Amino acid sequence: PEKKRTDRPQNLSCSPSRPPPLGSLVASPPIPAVDRGSRPVKMEGNTRGGGHSEALKNYNVGRTLGIGTFGKVRIAEHKHTGHKVAIKILNRRQMRTMEMEEKAKREIKILRLFIHPHIIRLYEVIYTPTDIFVVMEYCKYGELFDCIVEKGRLQEDEARRIFQQIISGVEYCHRNMVAHRDLKPENLLLDSKYNVKLADFGLSNVMHDGHFLKTSCGSPNYAAPEVISGKLYAGPEVDVWSCGVILYALLCGTLPFDDDNIPKLFKKIKGGIYILPSHLSALARDLIPRMLVVDPMKRITIREIREHPWFQNRLPRYLAVPPPDTAQQAKMIDEDTLKEIVNLGYDKDHVCESLCNRLQNEATVAYYLLLDNRFRATSGYLGADYLQSMGRSFNQFTSSESASPSTRQYLPASNDSQGSGLRPYYPVERKWALGLQSRAQPREIMIEVLKALQELNVCWKKNGHYNMKCRWCPGFPQVSDMLDANHSFVDDSTIMDNGDANGRLPAVIKFEIQLYKTKDDKYLLDMQRVTGPQLLFLDFCAAFLTNLRVL
Ligand code: ADP
Ligand code: MG
Repeated sequence: PEKKRTDRPQNLSCSPSRPPPLGSLVASPPIPAVDRGSRPVKMEGNTRGGGHSEALKNYNVGRTLGIGTFGKVRIAEHKHTGHKVAIKILNRRQMRTMEMEEKAKREIKILRLFIHPHIIRLYEVIYTPTDIFVVMEYCKYGELFDCIVEKGRLQEDEARRIFQQIISGVEYCHRNMVAHRDLKPENLLLDSKYNVKLADFGLSNVMHDGHFLKTSCGSPNYAAPEVISGKLYAGPEVDVWSCGVILYALLCGTLPFDDDNIPKLFKKIKGGIYILPSHLSALARDLIPRMLVVDPMKRITIREIREHPWFQNRLPRYLAVPPPDTAQQAKMIDEDTLKEIVNLGYDKDHVCESLCNRLQNEATVAYYLLLDNRFRATSGYLGADYLQSMGRSFNQFTSSESASPSTRQYLPASNDSQGSGLRPYYPVERKWALGLQSRAQPREIMIEVLKALQELNVCWKKNGHYNMKCRWCPGFPQVSDMLDANHSFVDDSTIMDNGDANGRLPAVIKFEIQLYKTKDDKYLLDMQRVTGPQLLFLDFCAAFLTNLRVL
């Protein structure tokens, strides 16, 4: 493993039973002098931007925020929008001698795709023969590490707030097939509202089904037993372990596993030997040991962490739903921000096209800066409005009247109900879901279902309260003649009827509807085609979903 500035918590106190002294997490190498307070940012203008004036012509570069493995991170102001950013300056020569180009490339590749309120946003990457400039979201309060050093252990509510944000960011990574693999408080940055942003994806890796990772990476104090043992691992489970160590550090102000002597440290980690301080609440005492389980197969999963009562307590609404995936997000365009961009002089079609194709250019950089700052400025409790607003104002662009034909061709036609009333906070909840889920009462659901069926001229026969046989003949309005006042079949034989008097087979779809009860008191509506053309059935499903938007 490479030697990192961040391999530094050697002198962490490991006696958590007494209240940890201020600074029980002590940084060994000098932390770059950074004033992250409220003093105004003094921008230097592009003539003194560290000699990078041409490449960084759109920015006024300011003071140094920190020093990373390859070079400085500096604050800057984006001239077009006036918003602050952080620019990581990677020196190509330095990287080559350290054979670390891969690390930088990986970070850029991954971060470029990610859009999540708790993952550092990458706005653009500028390449010159000597340097690579990575323009990122600016985090005013720096590393979570420094916050713990300064404050010692955090209050349980504050620790939980931070932990919930970390888990939601990690869950988003996993959902997009990325394991971070270097989670620790030094790589978690705090923005101006003390919200967490996952950073430093240099050691992260893309996971593939059925393929296991082996690289040993990250800081040993946060590394899972299987990682330091050089065993194969799938990915997510090592992030869960690191999150367990972070949670311990947040609540205790110390590290669970620590020793100046590396073999001894490894022994503690592999044996899962640590002390749980008595000041921890019962639920925290329950959760931490589930995360720090040596056997990765028995370790709690992110999904189970989400369900744990300690995690669920005070969970903000916008974090209460699983995160979306990157492909779906590319389809969402915020119309207000788009208007602002057009007012700045950018061509609307060009911006839409670039956003949908995930291209990086001046327009998309400005778009994302405006978007982030708009939601940051107006965000209420923990930025909950951010995602609520996304749910409201982001539109599937295909359905937007303002989409020009040239834009539309880049978008897969999407007629699903996912962007409408089903999920209030996130535009997309998941890639695949079986059936239609609802939290409404089963009776209400069935009433809505029957209304939709009635409107679509479907005939049905009830097998039970929540199960029925249905028949749909598109373009056969006379179907209603066969129905009694309740729209249900009078005679069971009608529904089994195939073909007309001339022996021609009409396009008839027969299907069954069933409502199931799932976990968490949710109900799931499933539809199964029995006979009839498949594509016609899909047409029907589309019409049915459109009708059921309120479900
Ligand atoms: P490395 O990958 O070499 O560890 P980092 O990405 O961790 O480099 O950056 C080095 C330091 O610069 C960080 O520890 C942090 O203090 C500061 N820094 C990095 N990115 C930002 C940012 N977006 N906002 C504020 N400070 C940052
Ligand atoms: Mg770092």
